Amino acid sequence: MSKKTNPKTEVHEYQAEMQKLLEILVHSLYTEREIFLRELVSNASDAMSKVQLTTLTEGNVLDKDAELQIKITFDENKHKLEIEDSGCGMTKEELVSNLGTIANSGTLKFLQQAQAENKSAENLIGQFGVGFYSVFMVAERVELTTRSWEVDSQAWEWTSSGGGQYEITPAVYNQRGTRVTIFLKEDAKEFCSKWKLESVIKKYSNYLPFPVKVNEETVNQVKAIWTQSKSEVKDDQYIDFFKQISHSTEEPLHYMHFSIDAPIQYYALLYFPESVGNEVVYARESKDIALYAQKVLIQSGNTDLLPSYLRFVQGVVDSEDLPLNVSRESVQKNVLIEKIKGSLSLRVLKELEFLSEQNVEKYEKFWKQYGILLKEGISSDFKNKNRLMDLLRFNSSLSKDDSPDVSLRNYLERMREEQKEIFYVTGASRESILHNPNLEYFKNKGIEVLYLTDQIDDFMVTDMREYDGKTLKNISQGDIDGISDNDISAPETSLSKEEQSDILAFFKSQLKDRVSEVSESKRLVDSPCSLVTPKDGMTVQMEKMMKMMDKKFEGEKRNLEVNMGHPIIQNLSEILQKDKKHPFLKDSIEQLYENSLLIEGLLENPVQVLSRFQSFMESASAYELEKIS
Ligand code: ADP
Ligand code: MG
Repeated sequence: MSKKTNPKTEVHEYQAEMQKLLEILVHSLYTEREIFLRELVSNASDAMSKVQLTTLTEGNVLDKDAELQIKITFDENKHKLEIEDSGCGMTKEELVSNLGTIANSGTLKFLQQAQAENKSAENLIGQFGVGFYSVFMVAERVELTTRSWEVDSQAWEWTSSGGGQYEITPAVYNQRGTRVTIFLKEDAKEFCSKWKLESVIKKYSNYLPFPVKVNEETVNQVKAIWTQSKSEVKDDQYIDFFKQISHSTEEPLHYMHFSIDAPIQYYALLYFPESVGNEVVYARESKDIALYAQKVLIQSGNTDLLPSYLRFVQGVVDSEDLPLNVSRESVQKNVLIEKIKGSLSLRVLKELEFLSEQNVEKYEKFWKQYGILLKEGISSDFKNKNRLMDLLRFNSSLSKDDSPDVSLRNYLERMREEQKEIFYVTGASRESILHNPNLEYFKNKGIEVLYLTDQIDDFMVTDMREYDGKTLKNISQGDIDGISDNDISAPETSLSKEEQSDILAFFKSQLKDRVSEVSESKRLVDSPCSLVTPKDGMTVQMEKMMKMMDKKFEGEKRNLEVNMGHPIIQNLSEILQKDKKHPFLKDSIEQLYENSLLIEGLLENPVQVLSRFQSFMESASAYELEKIS
């Protein structure tokens, strides 16, 4: 390199992942490059929150009385932009680890995928702890000068052009904090404008708790939105604040803002995002709640303020009663935090109750996103179990389409007088459930059956056991004499008792250990047979899940129920009476059994039924031909 080098300058290579990441950032097409400013300003604000807390809890801090503010200046001629904060600064070690490596190892993969799918990365950048590097979308070169809050700290300068390496040099900087100097690319000159800077800050950073000054003039609103009364804050401001804390452009599905005075004082501003990623729903990562004590940020990603199943909630909680010196570790065990948690969860559930009654459409949207999490709550939040059960929504045999529009209350209200149980069936989807032969009886009688299609449902139902005194009953399980006894009766058949037991015995001798039992069905109407889980046995959904976790898992043996009134069965019985060795008998029973497996989604290799099926068609076509010739 041609520029004069300081003998004390150390040249560092970026971590390999980091280089790839920078490449993506610089070469992708960004529609909103301006977000680099959001990221730098939010880093400055984070740094000031940190030093604010340190100042209040530790004795020795450099520049103890420095004003906490972010100063932005620019030089149009030099294409230079400067962002300076009086935050915690960084030591040399911190510089290397914070600005030379990627904190989260999954980040690169995620961004690569987003790029491959042509998704916009703007919203992802801030969420994945790589915000700082977005500066290279606009910067030819960055010089960052920083001095840590520790009293006798040394200042450092970090410089990089975003390529494979960065340099670190000892520097002179007489104040605590960080100054980022950006030499803008030719095509990014637009950021050297007061108007532009102001509008970007208003757009993304309006609610930061510290003044952001452009050429000495404060451009953000500073006052904490959550400490204001609801009537002072406009809908737009709530939405903008959400966009700021979530680093996204998406509007929230819903928000709630309230304050409580007893038994403990706190303000809360909570959001339900329109959607959250799989990492939240399935990998159990929590969205962030920022915890403030006396308006000072104590913890930005608190996960102890709400139970895990409410992990989609994002927002701010601020308590005047919390001591400032609660450390990260002690937050978890703090009695006051426990109290806030109890009260917050109840508030959230009551809000959902309200939504479910007053804004059905919004609640349905909510349910589609987060219903599965509330189901998780049934198994983990014993105290609120009843409240949660009232919030559940199902699709059922009385639903017109696949919308989750039935509550347990609805079910009870239209249940038959003599009905003692709440009937449900599990399956992969409404589509597949509709083909379940075990439903036939219920359809015929007009008895409502809830359709449970989430994997978690089996566990939930086990933990629920009953609702309002009525047990939940799986219709694919052994006994279904839940209605009145004389109501359940076998379909009419022309077969004598003897013929019936002969054909059942023949089924069993053919299927052997593949089924635990073959019996006469009371529930089938249109289908010749169906597989039924023995009483207290494992449901099909549960079995599939076990098999996914353990390839060697042996499935449950099921009962085969046979419809004695069905023409196929009656014909087979007649053949059996005439010729026990007729090959058609064996083939038919195999086929019927496999059909039942297929319907349950338990047939491992569905293609195997084809060859037998073709031989059936062969005889059927010969028969048809005979009829017309
Ligand atoms: P994130 O902010 O999500 O951690 P960034 O890439 O924006 O990710 O920043 C990486 C890290 O660099 C920060 O976590 C912080 O430790 C450090 N950092 C960045 N800017 C500053 C600053 N202005 N003052 C102090 N530390 C900073
Ligand atoms: Mg950041």
